Amino acid sequence: MGLTDIQSKIAKAESDAGRDAGAVTLIAVSKVQPLERVEEVLQQGHRVFGENRVQEAEGKWPAFKERFDGVQLHLIGPLQSNKVRPALELFDVIHTVDSEKLARRIKMIGDEIGRHPKLFIQVNTGDESQKAGVALGEVDDLVALCRELGLPLVGLMCIPPVDEEPSLHFALLAKIAARNRLAGLSMGMSDDFERAVALGATHVRVGSAIFGQRG
Ligand SMILES: *Cc1c(COP(=O)(O)O)cnc(C)c1O
Repeated sequence: MGLTDIQSKIAKAESDAGRDAGAVTLIAVSKVQPLERVEEVLQQGHRVFGENRVQEAEGKWPAFKERFDGVQLHLIGPLQSNKVRPALELFDVIHTVDSEKLARRIKMIGDEIGRHPKLFIQVNTGDESQKAGVALGEVDDLVALCRELGLPLVGLMCIPPVDEEPSLHFALLAKIAARNRLAGLSMGMSDDFERAVALGATHVRVGSAIFGQRG
């Protein structure tokens, strides 16, 4: 596979679902990939990338950003309180807000440094104890809090349990987003992004299908 294959599959999934062309943003997940592979995708003109660790992203993206204009970086992994400052400095979008404490810290540091990345709330749709994400019963309150704080909340994100049909989780996430009048839906990875597009994803996070297996 590769970038252009994934782009055409997304275009087909958009059209099959009766959605507008370009309705879905492809986030190329570059975590752990060799720099040459990431550079190839940049050379092909792609500019939207996802990383799941702040420290790893700090090591590679400042240099790429100097060489390639218009890079948009998405944080798709858990955000620890002590990493909020560098995360707000580097990332344009954060997909993993999952607690009141984290939302308040993002607000405080964001005001301090004058940077407010767009935010998604991560929802633990499978109710998995080891997984990040806010519990299903607490999503609406966290949405309300982000709005009260004036944070630029744009949508919801989920990572379905590995052993379950992802479509059920995508549909559930879409329903919770609609109830909260949130337009953004960050869902779908290499194995299931077409199903996510069919169910309303606005952002798919695709790594190995673009770059190859992570070593
Ligand atoms: C790694 C990762 C992805 C991409 O996974 P692939 O299966 O390689 O497409 C998507 N979302 C999150 C949160 C990830 O950590």
